[in-house]
This record gives sequence, structure tokens and C-alpha cells, in this order.
Amino acid sequence: MNRLPAFFFAHGSPMNALGTSPWSEMLRRTGSKLTGVQAILMISAHWYTRGTGVSFATHPETIYDFYGFPPELYRITYPAPGSPETAERVQNLIRSVPVLADPAMGLDHGAWSVLIHLFPDAAIPVFQLSIDAGLSPEGHYRIGRELSVLREEGVLICGSGNIVHNLRAADFQNPRAEPAGWNVRFDEAIAEGLRSGNHETVLNYLSLGQDARLSVPTPDHLIPLFYILGSSHPKDPVSFIWEGYEHASLSMRSVRIG
Ligand code: ZN
Repeated sequence: MNRLPAFFFAHGSPMNALGTSPWSEMLRRTGSKLTGVQAILMISAHWYTRGTGVSFATHPETIYDFYGFPPELYRITYPAPGSPETAERVQNLIRSVPVLADPAMGLDHGAWSVLIHLFPDAAIPVFQLSIDAGLSPEGHYRIGRELSVLREEGVLICGSGNIVHNLRAADFQNPRAEPAGWNVRFDEAIAEGLRSGNHETVLNYLSLGQDARLSVPTPDHLIPLFYILGSSHPKDPVSFIWEGYEHASLSMRSVRIG
């Protein structure tokens, strides 16, 4: 079996799940060109836990883990089946940390707001791996490396977050508000680390000082990228399938590896 690419998708506002946009069209095109995907492993910013967990649900529920959005957003469902057998494979592959089986976890909006465009048929089984809030960047990267072999087994490894994610600095009234300088500088520095294959730059993002502190006030939205980098092979090409900003303080840069 061929090795599948791995992706880091920027999800931005939950509103992105609704309707169509150039971003959603990009996701749809991306999904339609992928063949041989037998299961999707989602690592979303919104399943942020103590310890590492993997979802074993056979029919994961669509979770509405946000407040104050229009009613139509709460009517979206993503009825894809789960994949307990692949979840078990993940549990066995990860040796660096213990992995708890979660029979009840559904799909959070970081997962479904992307998947609804990527694979609108919801036919491919999906399951999630949680992000341990207590683990170092290297620890997350190591798990990504342990999971890398799944790419040769028909498992599409997807991270969902945002390289820059500062809600305090967001202009919620205007999705197209101009990005701040710190946002652009940090996003570019991470992009350069990805282009050059210098994963250390990405993992050591805090060395970017004030730009990093403003861009990553909490690391939950950046961490999924570490898993994707960990799952990469030295010869994998890296491309940016989307670049841009939302609400002044979110980067929508999305990354394809392989
Ligand atoms: Zn989010």
C-alpha cells in the first residue's frame, strides 16, 4: 500500500463548517483526490486532556463544544463510523506514553468542521487521539513518530488546530481583519521551519519570544502540528495547501506532508 500524506488543517472559527468558501472548496478538492484512505486519525486542538486517550466509539457523536453560535451550526452532524480496531492499533503502537481507551468520546468541532468539507459523505471511519496537556513538544513529536507507520496502512493522519491562535486579540466582528505583525512574523517563522525541514525550530517555538507568546498563548492549537511533523519521513515534500489569516489573530496556514 502507498504511503498516505499527513495533514495539518487550520480550522479557525466553527462558522467555517457552514456553507462554502474558497477554504472549504480547497478541502473538498483535497479530499476528492485522496485514494486508499481506510480510516482517519484526527488529532484536534479541542480534545486536550491529562494523559493521552484514543477514542473507541463505534458511532462517534458530533459534539458541539462551543457557545453562542447560530442554531444552524448545532444542527450539523457528521455521522461517520468510528474505527475501534484502528484505535487499538494506535494504542499498541504508542510506546512512549500510556494510552487510555475512551469508549464515549465523539467528534469535536476541530475534527468535524474540517471533515465535513474534506469528506462530505462521512463514509470513512474516524477516530481521535487526545492531546496530553502535560507533555513537551518533543513528547508529542515522538508519538507522531510512533504513529508514522499508519500512513502505510491506509490511515490518514490529520492534525486540526491553528499555528497562530489568540482569541483575546481576535476581531470577532471581521473575519478579514488585517493580521497583526506578531501573527505574520510567527506564522512565517514556523513556515520557514517547515519548508527547510528544521523541525527543531518548530518544536522550540518559544524561542521566538514575544511573537510566540502572543501567537500561542496556550499551545493546544499548535500541538497537532507536532504530531504531523513526527509522522513525516525525511523525503516527504512539504506544501502549504492554504495560507491566510482570520479575525486578525488566527493563522489559517494548512500543511501537507508527503
Ligand atoms: Zn479551535
